[in-house]
Amino acid sequence: MAGRVYETWKGSNKFLFGGRLIFGPDAWSLPFTLLLIITPVTLFSVFVATHLRHEFFSNTAGDAILVVAILFTLFVLILLFLTSARDPGIVPRNLHPPEEELCYETTASTDGRQAPTVQIPRTKEVMVYGVPVRVKYCDTCMLYRPPRCSHCSICNNCVERFDHHCPWVGQCIGVRNYRFFFMFVSSATLLCIYVFSMSALYIKFLMDNNKGTVWRAMRESPWSVVLMIYSFISLWFVGGLTGFHLYLISTNQTTYENFRYRSDNRINVYDRGCSNNFRETFCSKVKPSRNDFRAFTREEPPRNTTLATTWERPGEEEEGSLELEERRQKVEDDLDIDEDVLKLQQRSNAEEGSDPAHQRVEIDQMRVGSSERAPTIRSEVRHGNLGARTSPQEDVTSGSLVRESRSYAAAEEGR
Ligand SMILES: [Zn+2]
Ligand SMILES: [Zn+2]
Repeated sequence: MAGRVYETWKGSNKFLFGGRLIFGPDAWSLPFTLLLIITPVTLFSVFVATHLRHEFFSNTAGDAILVVAILFTLFVLILLFLTSARDPGIVPRNLHPPEEELCYETTASTDGRQAPTVQIPRTKEVMVYGVPVRVKYCDTCMLYRPPRCSHCSICNNCVERFDHHCPWVGQCIGVRNYRFFFMFVSSATLLCIYVFSMSALYIKFLMDNNKGTVWRAMRESPWSVVLMIYSFISLWFVGGLTGFHLYLISTNQTTYENFRYRSDNRINVYDRGCSNNFRETFCSKVKPSRNDFRAFTREEPPRNTTLATTWERPGEEEEGSLELEERRQKVEDDLDIDEDVLKLQQRSNAEEGSDPAHQRVEIDQMRVGSSERAPTIRSEVRHGNLGARTSPQEDVTSGSLVRESRSYAAAEEGR
């Protein structure tokens, strides 16, 4: 009896309603986030909006304040649901390493004998807007990550256009839910401003009405004060996040890339100009999910190995543009924590007098989630007996330029 896909799911996700809803493993934080939104709005409706309605406005205008607060909160909650309960853009795992990428080599081992080894190139190059971008092989998902894709260590999945894993919504933010996430954060900002200003307005009316001081008005409506403080603090958080993501959208970066580009001083090949970037984020069609969580698993699944290897915009002129020529330098897209770990390790090794055992623990903690490696490949690779193969190799079968830049064994050596 075959089970459904979500029942045998290898990622750390939680499913609800028979696989109709998918959450991250930390979705327990969602009720907490809901409380942070619903509690202040309820207090606002009961202690501020109703009084404003009875005492200071005509019925229609008074009702509007309450109705706007409730409807806008519902809107925010719907956006939260769209962000956290659906597939963020998970790339389905392969059941086997891509066979056409495997390299069979005979190399001399340390004792002088010829030892056959199987290896998979750690990276390969794909073209993005005419610029070669290096993509990495994911050991856990057994696939070459598409450009901008990264493996979320919390959910244990490769996610397309991975932005970050948001603990507040308990879900990855990726290609399919980024716009909803942004709309959620920006709407929450507006809600904070609304609650703050309406509470301040109530205090102002109380002052004018009783001809009293601001302190007397605040004593008269302590909930207004509490709500103003709460929404002011929240505003710094969600407002700051909105501003940061507005900058990211205008430059077509993900949070992850922003972190990487800054540290590596890299070129952003995805930046197509501010208005085009906004159009891409908000006006493009939401990619359909590549997973059917409710589908029945097949007994003998077919080998799903091919990955599209070009992400070129059709009709894009490669030559002639000076800007493109400048960009035509190698741009890495190693959205992978592995290299961070490697750097961290090298850095900490270089540091004097630090405790090596302590470094080890730190590094191991960072690696949590990527421990589910492909044992077949790992065990077959002989350590330390292979040099880096740097000669470009064209993959004619896939119809695109795929150059092998570094062998798996070389990467192993670097560790
Ligand atoms: Zn992966
Ligand atoms: Zn995640």
